[in-house]
Amino acid sequence: MKVHTLDPRAPWVISTHDLGRRPGSMRTMKPVLPAPADVAVGLIGVPKDADVELDLRLEAVMEGVLVTGTALAPLTGECSRCLEPLTSDVEVDFQELFFYTAEDAGEDDQILDGELLDLEPTFRDAVVLALPLSPVCSDDCAGLCTECGVRLAEAGPDHRHETLDPRWASLRGLVSNNDEDDQEA
Ligand SMILES: [Zn+2]
Ligand SMILES: [Zn+2]
Repeated sequence: MKVHTLDPRAPWVISTHDLGRRPGSMRTMKPVLPAPADVAVGLIGVPKDADVELDLRLEAVMEGVLVTGTALAPLTGECSRCLEPLTSDVEVDFQELFFYTAEDAGEDDQILDGELLDLEPTFRDAVVLALPLSPVCSDDCAGLCTECGVRLAEAGPDHRHETLDPRWASLRGLVSNNDEDDQEA
């Protein structure tokens, strides 16, 4: 269980004052909150302070306040194939029961601090689980040439390196020597 004193001015701390504790009472809200720091995995994440659009339903139940919602957050990162910067977004669903008292709550459960609840850990967990481990700039990103490292999207479909038969390699050596002779001439 996570019992701590919440700062009512913190953006992700939400007051349940208007909801009351009568089971069945319900409130909906659509706040836009600044993304907390370090909501990221590997190459991709939500930029700090970016607008996160939330659609929340708070419902009083016997044991606490059940929060059900969706969050839409922008993403920035790096393509795992071509290493170019990419932007995207992520939409996650979540549900969390915030208990009135620690006695009812389990080890990993959230507890209300008076009328306040902290939605940040719920948001963070939901987004981190939804982030792609290998983000791509587009589904058909061709990545980088394994021979020379050029971006294949820019090099074009004809980009390839000739794999020379070793018997011809010495001949190519002759040709390039001739080229050098021409340049000197
Ligand atoms: Zn890419
Ligand atoms: Zn190449």
